[in-house]
Amino acid sequence: MPKLSIVVPCYNEEEAIPLFYPAVEKVVKQMPVKIEYWFVNDGSSDGTLTEMRKLHVQDPERVHYVSFSRNFGKEAGLYAGLQAATGDYVVVMDADLQDPPEYLPEMYKDISTGEYDCVGMRRTDRKGEAKFKSFLSDQFYNVINKISDTKIVSGARDYRMMTRQMVDAVLSLTEYNRFSKGIFNWVGFKTKYLPYKNVERVAGTTDWSTWKLFKYAIDGITDFSEAPLAIATWVGGFTAFISVIGMIVVIVRKIIEPTSSAFGWASMVCVILFLGGIQLLCLGIIGRYIGRIYMQTKKRPIYIIKEKK
Ligand code: UDP
Ligand code: MG
Repeated sequence: MPKLSIVVPCYNEEEAIPLFYPAVEKVVKQMPVKIEYWFVNDGSSDGTLTEMRKLHVQDPERVHYVSFSRNFGKEAGLYAGLQAATGDYVVVMDADLQDPPEYLPEMYKDISTGEYDCVGMRRTDRKGEAKFKSFLSDQFYNVINKISDTKIVSGARDYRMMTRQMVDAVLSLTEYNRFSKGIFNWVGFKTKYLPYKNVERVAGTTDWSTWKLFKYAIDGITDFSEAPLAIATWVGGFTAFISVIGMIVVIVRKIIEPTSSAFGWASMVCVILFLGGIQLLCLGIIGRYIGRIYMQTKKRPIYIIKEKK
């Protein structure tokens, strides 16, 4: 029988794990696969690790966990889980049951035909989510799909089942700044998306504020596109062009009307501030990329394990 690994990154999910495990068990019992769980405790400050230990004691053969020395972020948790997984197929799920386990048999059915290397889930709505957050998400997908060669399907979650071959490909990308949504698409392979309606969290609260998501989106863009770097060139070229027109206007005006004076102090200050602002913006963009190069060159590990069972 093929083996299916279930990877679950968890951060402060002590309430969700006791609901998650039986809900998944109920579904996978009917599937023709051997199951292995890899829970990743991402430096939780509550009883998440205790819950994992309990499950491991109950079923030491199938339930395993990795516990980090501190919070390294969901991306690090995903990476650690994928590294630990030994299955022929690997599925990544959130602990809060927002990734409904009912779809596992359907995902497995599609992937086991061998026609697809990956079966992912795509939300078709964002019920229960703040309007502003949804708006920002939509804008993010618009922007990244315009400026990056790596296309990201709108609404696609990290909830996906992959073949061993694809998991190995994902693991071969050892970059420090991990943007999985991009990485899953970058590695290629044939992916099928199953649509589903948004489900709200069963317990606990999300750790992703709108601000955190915004920063995550900016990271995604800088990781998968160099387009922001081109902004300096375009804006610089454009302002140079405008300034040439300005010069012509000033000279022509002087010839036609020799007694006219300059436009004045206020306009001068505006121009200086405008250019200063653009220069700082471009420096900031370059700085972001340099910061990421800096982190990458340090070659720090993506996570540090304190306990593994
Ligand atoms: N998560 C994690 N580390 C973090 C934040 C979140 O491992 O620093 C986990 C979390 O426990 C959950 C999954 O990532 O299983 C998705 O998080 P959440 O439900 O907060 O995000 P959302 O579903 O709102 O995108
Ligand atoms: Mg969630």
